[in-house]
Order: sequence, then structure tokens, then C-alpha cells
Amino acid sequence: MKKILILYTGGTIGMVRTKEGYQPQTGGIRRLLSEVPDLGMEGMPVYDLIEFDRLIDSSDVTVEDWNRIARTVEAHYNAYDGFVVLHGTDTMAYTASALSFQLAHLNKPVILTGSQIPLCELRSDANDNLITSMLFAASDRLHEVCLYFGGKLLRGNRAVKVSSDGLNAFSSPNIPPLAEAGIRLNYRENELLPASDLPLTVTDLSPVPIAVLKIFPGIQYRVFEPILTEGLSGLVLEAFGAGNIPGGEEALLPFIRRAAEHDAVIVVCSQCLKGEVSLGTYATSMGLKRAGAVSGYGMTTEAAVTKLTYLFSLGLPRDEIRRLMEVNLRGEMSSEREFI
Ligand code: ASP
Repeated sequence: MKKILILYTGGTIGMVRTKEGYQPQTGGIRRLLSEVPDLGMEGMPVYDLIEFDRLIDSSDVTVEDWNRIARTVEAHYNAYDGFVVLHGTDTMAYTASALSFQLAHLNKPVILTGSQIPLCELRSDANDNLITSMLFAASDRLHEVCLYFGGKLLRGNRAVKVSSDGLNAFSSPNIPPLAEAGIRLNYRENELLPASDLPLTVTDLSPVPIAVLKIFPGIQYRVFEPILTEGLSGLVLEAFGAGNIPGGEEALLPFIRRAAEHDAVIVVCSQCLKGEVSLGTYATSMGLKRAGAVSGYGMTTEAAVTKLTYLFSLGLPRDEIRRLMEVNLRGEMSSEREFI
């Protein structure tokens, strides 16, 4: 029988109503899980539960929490067939992305899930999210970090939260779901990452001074000048379309050049949910390319931020970080770009 380790980090799924609003409660999840009838049914894997000491609303997640999750998976890696991480939805896509980079050569499923309505409430979506995640975590086909929510299994580093109140709260706009839970669990075999022959390697992340700048028409770049100093290691620009930025009098480029002179790694992502950045296709993005910015291609901002954090945490030289930002490491961008 398959064995799954459930990690409870906090989040709505295990929260209870308090005078201050919904909050996670120590010991609460163990009791709630013991009351889920499906967990004891035939066909379900057996499970153990680890409840973290620091139970959080996921808005409070830090790199230390990511390190704790990654190290817990590593410590129990050989004893379990798969892992389910119960997590708040607000930053689940960031955590899934971070873990995908931290857990190199992963050969077992790590499935993040949560819910929009707590397990203890009427009409909760927690039951299906939990049970189906357990089944995916027991699958021999998956060798990567995934996010399961609302009937869809998504690649973790491609997922974004798209709804603050819908039960179908996540999407991976740039690739189809890895699997869908209908009457059967239907996998898209050709989308799945291959197994690895190498042993799992875990990287601890360190906090890195990174900024995300979303471009909009009429943006007053001067406002951002004070942050574009040598104190800034990485800058993710959310540009228009294929990576374009407005020129004109209030041009961004001089500021970007200054950040580049300070050796910041500048990564261009798109505000569009689908498609890729293609620097130099339009004159409005050529300047970014000349200033030394690199392309995030089809990466989500969540993936770009966590990948930068990962590459900086590896202690790589900045030119190597720039190179690797354009290389597909864990399926975070399209596979025409080589795995290394
Ligand atoms: N604020 C909650 C959290 O992210 C929302 C949720 O879990 O759905 O922890």
C-alpha cells in the first residue's frame, strides 16, 4: 500500500473561525482529517501527518518556510511514496515554484493543495482537493512539484491564482493541466516531467533583494529610481505583450541601464497570461535587450521571482544567473529551451 506524508503549513483548509477572522489552530488539522471518511476508504493510500509549529496564513510565507518544507520532504523522502503539502491559496503558486527549484532531481510527486472554504465548513472544497491530491501523490507517473485544485493538476511553477473566491482558483495559462480529475484521473502523459536517475538535491533559499515592477501607461519611472541602486540584486519587469515598454519622455531605459550598471539581473516577463516574451521583436523592447535584460519567455512572475531567488541562493556569478534565467530548469518555460 502506498504511503503519503501530509505536511500542514496553515491556510484556509485547516482554519477555524475566531473573533479575529479565520485562523489556523494547532492540533486542529489532525482532528479534522480524522473526520474525513474517504481517507479510510479502500483504494486510499495510508498517510502520516506533520503539522508545522508555525502555522501561517500563507500571506506570511517566507523563504524559511520554503526551506522547512523542502527539508521535511528530504528528511522523509525514502519513507514515503509521495507528499501532500496543505498550504494557503494566496501564495501557493509561489511556494510551488520555489519548491520546484529547491528539489532538484525529484522523483516522487509533491502535491500542493488547500481550499477556499475550510474543511470544517459547509460546502467545503477541501474534501476533493485533499482526497484527489492524495491519489496524485500516490502516482508513479509524477516526478515533480504540482498544484492540485478544483479538478486540475497543474505544474507548480506554471500555476497562478486566478480567483480570490471561486473554487476553480488556479490555472496554468501557458500549459494545459498535467491531469484532470473527472470520473477517472486523466493524465496528459506528454506534459509530464521525466523521472531522474540522480539523487534528490535540496537547496536552502536565502532572502534576495528582488523587485517586481509592473509597467502601465503613464508610469512615472522617477518614482522607482530610489530602488534601482546597488542594493537591488534582481528586477522582474512585467512588461506589455511580448516584452514591450513605453518610450517617450518618461523613458524607463535610463533607469534600467543604471540598474544594469549596478549589475542587477533584469528579467522581462509579460503581463499577458499566455504566450512568451520575445525581446527585440519590437523596437519598444530592443532597448531592454541592449541594456542587458534577459527574457523570462513564458515564465510566470511567481516562477521568475523564485527562480531568481534560487539561482542567487546557489551563489552563482551574475552572468551565470542571467544565462540560466533563459534556460528551462524544471519545466517553468517551454521545453524547446534545453534542460540542464
Ligand atoms: N489567506 C489564506 C491563505 O492563503 C487563503 C486561503 O488559504 O485560501 O492562507
